[in-house]
Amino acid sequence: MAGILVYVLAKDGEFNKNSLGAISEAASVVGSIGGEAAAVVVGGDIADDKLATLGNYGATKVYKVDGPEGVAQPAVDAMAKVMNDNGIEIALFGGGLLGLEIGAGLTARLDAGVTMEVTGIKSEGGRIIVERPVLQDSQIVDVAFNGKAVIVGRLNAFEPKETGGSAAVEPVSVEFSEFSLKAELVTRGEQRGADVNIEDADILVAGGRGLGEADNFKLAEDLADSLGGAVAATRAVVDAGWYPYAAQIGQTGKTVAPKLYLAAGISGAIQHKVGMQASENIVAINKDPNAPIFEFSDLGVVGDLHKIVPKLTEAIKAKKGA
Ligand SMILES: Cc1cc2nc3c(=O)[nH]c(=O)nc-3n(C[C@H](O)[C@H](O)[C@H](O)COP(=O)(O)OP(=O)(O)OC[C@H]3O[C@@H](n4cnc5c(N)ncnc54)[C@H](O)[C@@H]3O)c2cc1C
Repeated sequence: MAGILVYVLAKDGEFNKNSLGAISEAASVVGSIGGEAAAVVVGGDIADDKLATLGNYGATKVYKVDGPEGVAQPAVDAMAKVMNDNGIEIALFGGGLLGLEIGAGLTARLDAGVTMEVTGIKSEGGRIIVERPVLQDSQIVDVAFNGKAVIVGRLNAFEPKETGGSAAVEPVSVEFSEFSLKAELVTRGEQRGADVNIEDADILVAGGRGLGEADNFKLAEDLADSLGGAVAATRAVVDAGWYPYAAQIGQTGKTVAPKLYLAAGISGAIQHKVGMQASENIVAINKDPNAPIFEFSDLGVVGDLHKIVPKLTEAIKAKKGA
């Protein structure tokens, strides 16, 4: 039997949008390889009638596993069991850090091939082919698999499509490995700025390590407020805990194309550039005249952001009469 198994993350009784998109993507291609687009949900204490609504996005079956929610290893155990028991050879994730972690573990467990950052799935001659951007997204490569496959989508690459329908819910009992139960989700916190959808913002003020410390993100927030925009960040500052992951732009973060991208204290590393290079206007403030970001900025300001940003905010407020 063939088919595709999609990992579905549920939080507070709601399904993750990227997981729903992954189901729709699986449903759109599974017909050509045979088998069904199935979903697996681990933990979360979700009622069967809610699980059945995954059918509205194209799942025909939902495997329901009782177990710890939001942790990678139990999900690896669950997915490996469901795939082995049902002869499913392809696992699909909508993206995100948890998807990457489960995907990596599942790849090792199944000795599968893996492709991450996938932006599209198609089929040719009864085989699944995935599209993966490379070389700063300037080219797309087609990847096929010999045997089992783990596919992790790029965040927001797969659009959820409501098609109507209801999925059959099948409980699965999984014996978790001892090591899988060594970690547990203790708390899930809301991150500052997580409510802002930076992908939809027309104006982004992005902060980098040049801000100096977490508290200085206030400079970026004030400037963004004055412009009616939102705040974004580099991976360096997100990894340092200065700003939420939800705001990260770049290869392992979000891809944006606002009307204005104002980069403050950002060097312009290639991994950051790929996430913002499509912006209509790029303005960079950096004290180093040789910073790479100036090579792809429309306007470059060489100077200390701690002096420039507050003055800019003041000037914008004054101009707006605020
Ligand atoms: C596999 C992989 C994936 C990655 N994915 C991402 C990703 O998705 N997104 C991402 O952003 N990065 C990513 N990175 C990291 C990336 O390579 C860079 O390390 C990161 O983007 C640098 O962040 P930064 O510009 O904030 O810091 P830095 O490179 O340290 O730059 C800080 C800049 O601030 C300037 N500066 C310092 N003080 C001031 C001041 N007072 N006034 C004005 N300017 C000042 C400096 O001149 C410097 O140019 C990834 C790396 C790898 C290996």
